[in-house]
Amino acid sequence: MRPKLVIGNWKMNGNRADNAALLAGIAAGLGAHAAACAVCVPAPYLQQCEETLAGSRIAWGAQDVSMHDCGAYTGEVCARMVADFGGRYVIVGHSERRAYHGESSELVANKVLAVLEQRMVPIVCVGETLEQREAGQTVQVVGAQLDAVLDALDPQVLPGLVLAYEPVWAIGTGRNATPDMAQQVHAQLRARLAARNPAAAAVVPVLYGGSMKPDNAFDLLAQPDIDGGLIGGAALKAPDFLAIIAAAD
Ligand code: PEP
Repeated sequence: MRPKLVIGNWKMNGNRADNAALLAGIAAGLGAHAAACAVCVPAPYLQQCEETLAGSRIAWGAQDVSMHDCGAYTGEVCARMVADFGGRYVIVGHSERRAYHGESSELVANKVLAVLEQRMVPIVCVGETLEQREAGQTVQVVGAQLDAVLDALDPQVLPGLVLAYEPVWAIGTGRNATPDMAQQVHAQLRARLAARNPAAAAVVPVLYGGSMKPDNAFDLLAQPDIDGGLIGGAALKAPDFLAIIAAAD
């Protein structure tokens, strides 16, 4: 059995006081829950995470990075900087980046390479829009998004990935994929990974993201190929985030 992993995506939220309270609340409630957990925070708060969380069971990371290493790229943050603040994870290819910043799957693949180069773990997000799902294109769309990344990587490095299936129509909408719907896509993603590296397919966590909340987490996390959650809104309240972590036990 793969260990469960629950990651909070804070998106563009937070300030130092609220972050301190949220992190303290999570740390206080973690208890003996078995799932690994992490928070992916806005880049200015990486230092706060390092100061607050070093030595704890809560890992931290970023929500995006440049595909470039340090240099003349005004406004960008490179993977080396996230690693410099102890970051372990970087979300790559989130649908909000793809939709609002025009990120192509090729760019996402280059960002994955940049994250791996710094010995961090990329959380590679894939997901279909409502129109694509209704047109029966889900498998084709998420498959193409994943293949663009797998094509760029040596199969040997694939065990270092985390995948996240995040149907676009479920993100921030309160409408989650049913456990069956999500399980089907997760199994397909794992099969695609297995075609490149069977050993990687056995160990890579495939997270579900899209309106995962305390009341639906248990059923989603009970599916054989759902290894955890990438949590947006519910990661901003310690009791909700902790309830999802508890549901993963
Ligand atoms: C996300 O943005 O990755 C996400 C899953 O958001 P939410 O949980 O709010 O749907």
